[in-house]
Amino acid sequence: MTNPLYDRFFGKHAGKDTPFLHLPDGTILTHADFLRTAARIAHVLTGGGLQPGDRLAAQVQKSPTALALYAACVQAGIVFLPLNTAYTVDELSYFIENSGAKTVICDAGSQALLAPVAARSGARLETLNADGSGTLSDLADVMPAIYPTVERTEDDLAAFLYTSGTTGRSKGAMLTQGNLLSNAVTLAAHWHFTPRDVLLHALPIFHTHGLFVATNVTLAAGSSMIFLPRFDQDAMIDWMPRATTMMGVPTFYTRLLQDPRFTRELTSHMRLFISGSAPLLADTHREFEERTGHRILERYGMTETNMNTSNPYDGERRAGTVGFPLPGVELKITDPDTGTTLPDGTVGQIEVRGPNVFKGYWQMPDKTAAELREDGFFITGDLGKIDEDGYVHIVGRNKDLIISGGYNIYPKEIELVLDAQPGVSESAVIGVPHADFGETVLGVLVPDPDVDPDLEAILKAAGSSLARFKHPRKLVLVDSLPRNTMGKVQKNVLRERYKDAFA
Ligand code: ATP
Ligand code: MG
Repeated sequence: MTNPLYDRFFGKHAGKDTPFLHLPDGTILTHADFLRTAARIAHVLTGGGLQPGDRLAAQVQKSPTALALYAACVQAGIVFLPLNTAYTVDELSYFIENSGAKTVICDAGSQALLAPVAARSGARLETLNADGSGTLSDLADVMPAIYPTVERTEDDLAAFLYTSGTTGRSKGAMLTQGNLLSNAVTLAAHWHFTPRDVLLHALPIFHTHGLFVATNVTLAAGSSMIFLPRFDQDAMIDWMPRATTMMGVPTFYTRLLQDPRFTRELTSHMRLFISGSAPLLADTHREFEERTGHRILERYGMTETNMNTSNPYDGERRAGTVGFPLPGVELKITDPDTGTTLPDGTVGQIEVRGPNVFKGYWQMPDKTAAELREDGFFITGDLGKIDEDGYVHIVGRNKDLIISGGYNIYPKEIELVLDAQPGVSESAVIGVPHADFGETVLGVLVPDPDVDPDLEAILKAAGSSLARFKHPRKLVLVDSLPRNTMGKVQKNVLRERYKDAFA
């Protein structure tokens, strides 16, 4: 009997007293302990009628048991569907109904609200709280600690992961065992993970980054994780000397840099810092190196594909780029209208193909057909180019492209100019409706703390370094940019907010 994902990531650690999770209270959960919990949960799930291929939706706080729930689903052949803890009950009903989940696991706090939703879908509802308590654990406690692993192939679905919803309604990406397996094995080797590594894990586990990149890589390499419930500055500083690696979204890095305790000495034990999920400013990259002596390794991926590119481990980690396609992943830049491959240096849509690319969007055949080509290339929706040395640069999302007076304008180019102006901490450039040009450029600026930037001077400076059609027509100041839980700037929120700026 085989179950490739379970056998290679989980099963191989069965019975081992090696550390898997270092918990905030100082205790260590071994691989053996973790897998016993997973096996008990698997009994509860299948004992309650879940069949291989059925979906289980979970909106639970990050905890070791929540991670064991993922392992249990893999072992029992159930499709795991983790949901953002920020989703409201209305949003949850969409995901539960859309996915046809047969079991829903939630925090006891949302049980009453979710009960009618689960009932409507005929789904079983159990609870799992942040401290590991709840009806799921009560049932699991009395179950055997060994579970007969359900047979699966690499082609079977392992998870439905909903996209972050940055550009519209979240889509359920169907990911197979082979998708997850191949990507984590590649990344563990590419980033030189070994059993000696200890990963500082403060990411959520309902998203590719914290669940599949961080957790699967750790399992593939036999490493351990310092498993923190969330990003908390004090805890990060406290635990950093015990870690060897960290994975974070760019905001983790900017927040650490704001802390005077974050020093070269504090990070001297670290081997590798990895960033992704949103663009890391080149400034952050440089500032980080000045402060710590480490060069952040930036990589690029998405829910539908896991990771596609990475800066090199040994070679130059180039700021402002996402590195090279990973081994086994093909990446090309194409003309959005014709689909033909464009020469290096030209901006176009990024397409990827490889064992990491998903099966399609759940119950969205039209969208799947429009974005997943028959030859296996996935049209990512991101725009980018390949430079003369082969590094991939992302210039933004296709949906954020501004077309003004017939010209294509890539917001990133203007944002780089605005970010470099005195008193500007960060910026977001969007297109807003304009009677003459169709759309025109608006810059949203976040000032440095306690600074009142001179907007006239900034407009002038931007005007002298950018072609006329790219000039921002207006700048506005805000305290912070709207971001979702993964630290992604929500440009659709900004576009809505400023849609009448030139009305
Ligand atoms: P939705 O597809 O629902 O609009 P989303 O694309 O934000 O949401 P995810 O799959 O979580 O959902 O995010 C993938 C996207 O994140 C990529 O398509 C890319 O735009 C962005 N991204 C990831 N890593 C990087 C990076 N290193 N630099 C720039 N952008 C990145
Ligand atoms: Mg997307």
